[in-house]
Amino acid sequence: MTDADLAFATLTELRTALASGAVGAEELAHCYLRRIAADASNSFITVCEEQALAAARAADAALAAGQRQPLLGLPIAHKDIFCTRGVRTTCASRMLATFVAPYDATVVARLKAAGAVTLGKTNMDEFAMGSSSETSYFGPVANPWDAARVAGGSSGGSAAAVAAGLAAAATGTDTGGSIRQPAAFCGVSGLKPTYGRVSRYGMVAFASSLDQGGPLARSVADLRLLLGGMEGRDPLDSTSAAVPATGPATAKSDRRRPLAIGMPVEYWRDLPADVGAVLAAGAETLRRLGHRCRDVSLPHTRFAVPAYYVIASAEASTNLARYDGVRYGHRAERPKDIEDLYRRSRSEGFGAEVKRRILTGTYALSVGYYDAYYRKAQRLRRLVRDDFLAAFADVDAILTPATPTPAFALRQESGAAPTAMYKQDVFTVPASLAGLPALALPCGQAGALPVGMQLIGPHFAENTLLSLGEQFQAETDWHRRRPPAAGGGPAP
Ligand code: GLN
Repeated sequence: MTDADLAFATLTELRTALASGAVGAEELAHCYLRRIAADASNSFITVCEEQALAAARAADAALAAGQRQPLLGLPIAHKDIFCTRGVRTTCASRMLATFVAPYDATVVARLKAAGAVTLGKTNMDEFAMGSSSETSYFGPVANPWDAARVAGGSSGGSAAAVAAGLAAAATGTDTGGSIRQPAAFCGVSGLKPTYGRVSRYGMVAFASSLDQGGPLARSVADLRLLLGGMEGRDPLDSTSAAVPATGPATAKSDRRRPLAIGMPVEYWRDLPADVGAVLAAGAETLRRLGHRCRDVSLPHTRFAVPAYYVIASAEASTNLARYDGVRYGHRAERPKDIEDLYRRSRSEGFGAEVKRRILTGTYALSVGYYDAYYRKAQRLRRLVRDDFLAAFADVDAILTPATPTPAFALRQESGAAPTAMYKQDVFTVPASLAGLPALALPCGQAGALPVGMQLIGPHFAENTLLSLGEQFQAETDWHRRRPPAAGGGPAP
């Protein structure tokens, strides 16, 4: 296999190549590390070459000894929000620019135990706050399909790395869309699991009632494989749930049952024509596969963005109180007193968007405003959730666009009022507020840019979504397209 073949192969294909000896894990790691070294997208904050090669050599020895862990020797990347022992975890913030966690996040530990090789830590929006990966202290991520455009956010580095052949798959986190939106912008597949399926232990907290880790990969089958290595009850996260696994062993159960798929009228109403046409063709493909698509209504959709920005910011303001210059992270030089230490450490350590969230979140929680903002937002959250639960009485899954537009230009939204960026999240935050699983997958192109569809399912119905996505990808080749600039040439 050539370097380009290896760089754009699916995890499933790479597993077969490793098992047959067509390629070795160390050779594979070298191939990816060479590509990362030549990368111009700024997808990585930290590359851990030595650790990756050591893990790859151990994988080669295990393969030679006949071991077959599900992810043995597969080169992946972690969003730089997951704590990694011995490798810095920055969360793309000056606050944590030199922070090295003393332990691995549960997701990191589980994927390591399943045999995966970690290439490095990917770039993102600072503390996962954003939709473009432009708020990173380490500079913005460029979209592999068009370097003048954003990769999406906050898991933009993970999505761009998978799209550009710099990692075979990657982890991300999604609080209000941060896996699904960058996956859609970069033409890769991404899954936000049901809240509680994946442990949050060791994931730097943004908004704890919404944060959820998940996989980004080149196919839905690969998402299933990676999720199988991440999910499950963890005694270290009391909100993690003991639910049936979604790994390859259960892959067959939902196949081919004709499903009822709801298309919420509120999401389809004001779509730009090119995105609407791509999505309509996607729905047609699902119909051809034997599923029934029909209109449903989620009447409280328009309240989701305002409710999300109150709740997420309120939780962020409390979670980020821990960065005080004393225990972790950036500490101001020569403080006059403790007050000065707090003030200057936080002023210097946080970027503008993070400060804005802390301020609005603190305001929404303050005495006298709590009822008007925070309590009201929680009530809206319940209404958004009830809309979905009512819809799921009649349909098995919900089909929507993943984003209102394809990838926008760098500085286009970040240069405008903050709410311009917040509006990007209209199609992703509702499922987050409801805690539902949601899958984004490539569904077509608008001009030269990928367009993604989103499939939302009932709580813990990941199997239904993954099997729908697998059927869709057996029928289409959008997920096999390569960005022209990534040096891969056209798909085989
Ligand atoms: N774009 C949303 C925000 O800025 C979602 C981010 C996320 O999911 N981490 O809050």
